Amino acid sequence: MKPNIHPEYKQATVTCACGNTFKTGSTKEELRVEICSECHPFFTGKQKLVERGGRVEKFKKKYNID
Ligand SMILES: [Zn+2]
Repeated sequence: MKPNIHPEYKQATVTCACGNTFKTGSTKEELRVEICSECHPFFTGKQKLVERGGRVEKFKKKYNID
């Protein structure tokens, strides 16, 4: 590495509100974010899938499917 080409560009540790941490390039060494690609439903789809799953389970119970 040649140190003087981009002296202000560092490897930053980003800490999300969900507890996930990841590395990114930044002029700061530490960053805090409210939401990241691990917990944002737009990226994970998890929350919507969980919600759908819950509704299916209720439906199955109600009509004694399985
Ligand atoms: Zn997150």
